[in-house]
Amino acid sequence: MTLPDLECTGLTKRFGTATAVDAVSFDVPPGSFFSILGPSGCGKTTIMRVIAGFLDPDAGDILIRGRSILNTPPNKRPVNMVFQHLALFPMMTIAENIGYGLRRQGMAKAEIARKVDAALDRIGLPGIGARKIDELSGGQKQRVAIARCMVLEPDVLLLDEPLGALDLKLRERMKVELKEMQAAFDTTFVYITHDQSEALVMSDRIAVMNQGRFEQMGTGRELYYRPETAFVAGFVGDTNRWHGRIERVEGDALQLVTDSGLTLRGARHGRALSPGGRAEIFVRPEAIRLTRSAGELAHFDNRMSGRVTALLFNGAASRVLVQAGREEIEVNLPQSGEFADLARGAEVHIGWAGDQGNCFAGTP
Ligand code: ATP
Repeated sequence: MTLPDLECTGLTKRFGTATAVDAVSFDVPPGSFFSILGPSGCGKTTIMRVIAGFLDPDAGDILIRGRSILNTPPNKRPVNMVFQHLALFPMMTIAENIGYGLRRQGMAKAEIARKVDAALDRIGLPGIGARKIDELSGGQKQRVAIARCMVLEPDVLLLDEPLGALDLKLRERMKVELKEMQAAFDTTFVYITHDQSEALVMSDRIAVMNQGRFEQMGTGRELYYRPETAFVAGFVGDTNRWHGRIERVEGDALQLVTDSGLTLRGARHGRALSPGGRAEIFVRPEAIRLTRSAGELAHFDNRMSGRVTALLFNGAASRVLVQAGREEIEVNLPQSGEFADLARGAEVHIGWAGDQGNCFAGTP
């Protein structure tokens, strides 16, 4: 059996009486891209700092390729970390930046030069070692920061929101580049972010974190289509979300009346749900069909009519807000020409299948 590159068991970190990381366990197979995704303050950075050795855990263990590193000082751990603000040295050349850690290890000059050149090739910037850091674009600096870590050949590279300081367009491109670099170095990357699209695009597996705990771990597809908790359903991907009371349950199907008075059919998820209980239901905008005539929706078990209150144009990802009763419902705008002149105030019909509504218990 192959040992995981990284394994954390029961990892716990408290600050005073607050528990920032609460008995978190996970393992990351060799050569994979693993992301920890969660809102601000959920404990992501704390996990990274504990793995890197900047903080001691209160409980639990950290193993790299089967060996505990708890008693290994930070500079001796086979992990390295890239920070959001990269921490490159502006006065040094690119090659000097990349070779910095190797020089500190006392490696011979010729060997450093060879490793730096190889790293520049791997990040797709061959032959630019003599240039200054300031001559690089934001994306190139990002790559150099990763190369500087990777020449030290860590078993695991930790990345703490490294795209946070970049503009939107560059961030989009860097998502692809980071994934390519991870494959090129064939090294495990552990990436933390509060941005679901970064995690979904790059990761082999994602852990969704909330208040110090992992809510669910899985592929992006699993988290998106089969959320196991209300938190995951609400945090990963856009969704409509209603609170209500369950009226009927039949097998995995149920009927719920929302607090705003809509009667909806949904699918039971997670813990048992029973009639009379409070629940929350989530329906994605792309699961809802928008039509001009009600007849086309006869086969859906959720159907309603309403008026367009807003058009959110965004090319192929455009959305429509439809006021139905007391609810405003977000729906994908179909691409067909029939909707090209859809305007505010237009009367429309919407419908969706009951199994498209993920329903979870336990909401007050
Ligand atoms: P962000 O995305 O905003 O960086 P995060 O998910 O990385 O957030 P952490 O920085 O790990 O969250 O913080 C988790 C919790 O621990 C927060 O409530 C934070 O206030 C607290 N915390 C973090 N570091 C310390 C510290 N050194 N002393 C006391 N509390 C801390």
